[in-house]
Amino acid sequence: MTWETIRKDSTAQVAPNLADYARERSEFTWSRARKCLDGLPCGRGLNMAYEAVDRHVGTMRGGKVALRCLARDGTVTSATYAELAHRTARFANVLRSLGVGRGDAVFTLLGRCPELYTVVLGTLKNTSVLCPLFSAFGPDPVEQRLRLGDALVLVTTAALYRRKVAERRPDLPGLAHVLIVGPGAEELPGTLSFDALMAAASGHFAIPPTSPEDMALLHFTSGTTGTPKGAIHVHEAVVAHHATAAYALDLHPEDVYWCTADPGWVTGMSYGVIAPLVHGVTVVVDEGDYDALRWYRILDEQQVSVWYTAPTALRMLMRGAPPQRSNDGRAVHDLPALRFVASVGEPLNPEAVVWGQESLGLPVHDNWWQTETGCIMIANFAACEIRPGSMGRPLPGVEATVLERGEDGRARITDGGVRAVHEPDVVGELALRPGWPSMFRGYLHDEKRYEAAFADGWYLTGDLARRDEDGWYWFVGRADDVIKSAGHLIGPFEVESTLMEHPAVAEAGVIGRPDPMAGNIVKAFVSLRPGVEPTAALERELLAFGRRRLGPAVAPREIAFDQNLPKTRSGKVMRRLLRARELGLPTGDLSTLEGSV
Ligand code: ATP
Ligand code: MG
Repeated sequence: MTWETIRKDSTAQVAPNLADYARERSEFTWSRARKCLDGLPCGRGLNMAYEAVDRHVGTMRGGKVALRCLARDGTVTSATYAELAHRTARFANVLRSLGVGRGDAVFTLLGRCPELYTVVLGTLKNTSVLCPLFSAFGPDPVEQRLRLGDALVLVTTAALYRRKVAERRPDLPGLAHVLIVGPGAEELPGTLSFDALMAAASGHFAIPPTSPEDMALLHFTSGTTGTPKGAIHVHEAVVAHHATAAYALDLHPEDVYWCTADPGWVTGMSYGVIAPLVHGVTVVVDEGDYDALRWYRILDEQQVSVWYTAPTALRMLMRGAPPQRSNDGRAVHDLPALRFVASVGEPLNPEAVVWGQESLGLPVHDNWWQTETGCIMIANFAACEIRPGSMGRPLPGVEATVLERGEDGRARITDGGVRAVHEPDVVGELALRPGWPSMFRGYLHDEKRYEAAFADGWYLTGDLARRDEDGWYWFVGRADDVIKSAGHLIGPFEVESTLMEHPAVAEAGVIGRPDPMAGNIVKAFVSLRPGVEPTAALERELLAFGRRRLGPAVAPREIAFDQNLPKTRSGKVMRRLLRARELGLPTGDLSTLEGSV
């Protein structure tokens, strides 16, 4: 099915930051973007936490609410920028008092509680390195990452420490300090009370000189395609966080902003903590897990104006609440404050874009990036038309291309050289020209893998895409997931998107299953909407639906019903696991599998 382009009228309530795509791209430079930030006083460098917090304090924004934290039980606590500056200074002093300094690794294993933000920003002030761990990780992935990341400090709660770390502590000799947020430290040998240390610390802290190239954040990738990698990011990344949040999320200072990603993932850090605070907006933080009613209530009660979420969450909302209109034509989920919705992390099926338009009154703006890129690279913009199913166009300051593929499906490298695809709609590996500030500076302890990610002056993303004749990029799949069948190259996303257009289907994961005739045949794992029965008749209907829509070469030849598609903890379908299960192969690293402990 072809989806109609969604055009924007020019009467938006708020003038978009990026009004003229071509002009902005031609005039933009990263050094100009750097000038939008303050830098440390007296030319002492550039520090992310200073830009996010302290620089607002001397201005009108000091008394403005920076964080509005909603606890699971509904309690709301707020912190102003001035309060946040004070708390983060205290935590920086706590670290200093423990002898923790520049470049030392501080890990968090915390839910989305106010203290998490204090620790992140206080660590950055102290020029130590922050590595956030998603609190739902089990003991194995926690230990693996603490070890890989040379953790010196861990900040967690008594319950999480008991369940996930205590037993492994003897195997982690480098972990010198464990700070317990809330009660319980007294009963846990080898731990200190975060609250007691904070109470004793001074609220004045002079941020030491910080080089833009000082390491700031360590982020592990989602582990969708294999063992998670630790991507190194530096303080200069803040320049990109700021600029891209203005362009791709259209953040304005008066916004109330909610990013649903956990700060344990790069999205939740770059765009859940750093970028919005640098913009001086009010950030809504929800401690609770996904729940459709709760989410609609938050959007409504908190008057969220800009919302950044994930396709999987949008699909859950779609599944739970079909678009409806009331008699007077208003969208059922009428959220008058909401003015911009964006999504990232996985392909956004066109139906979800249009669902936003019909149900929220706003289309969803897909954007693409990776842990490695540190910031949004390709996006749909507030002022520009949306071609549903496309991830949009490169941001100002970002040079992207599509490279010709070789036999292995990745960019073909001949004598060190690569070739760009110039014709429209030809699938190749998506590549980016390094040089933007939040580009990762390495995979921790894996120099070889880092070097292998570059060729001929390009960073090779491992994703396949095509570019249409007007320059819009369309995601095809991860190079590892693409299916070769009877001489055709099939992107799982295309097949999944089509299946999700069937009213019975909630989500789909598509893989290639080896076949002596075709090389591979397309097999789809499908989860159904509530109340729909997985019958043989439905299976036949879906096979026919696929053939009708996609043609026999691309349509699935087999369908399996699966209400629990394996996903990473960051919500992505793990096709590699579907494939391994199907073929009886080893399942590999499952530390990021949702539901694993
Ligand atoms: P790993 O690298 O460990 O296998 P991962 O690639 O899932 O895990 P992330 O860095 O969290 O780890 O995710 C980036 C990837 O997510 C991208 O390379 C791409 O495959 C996918 N992705 C992100 N945004 C989009 C999008 N808008 N459309 C399609 N895919 C996307
Ligand atoms: Mg990746």
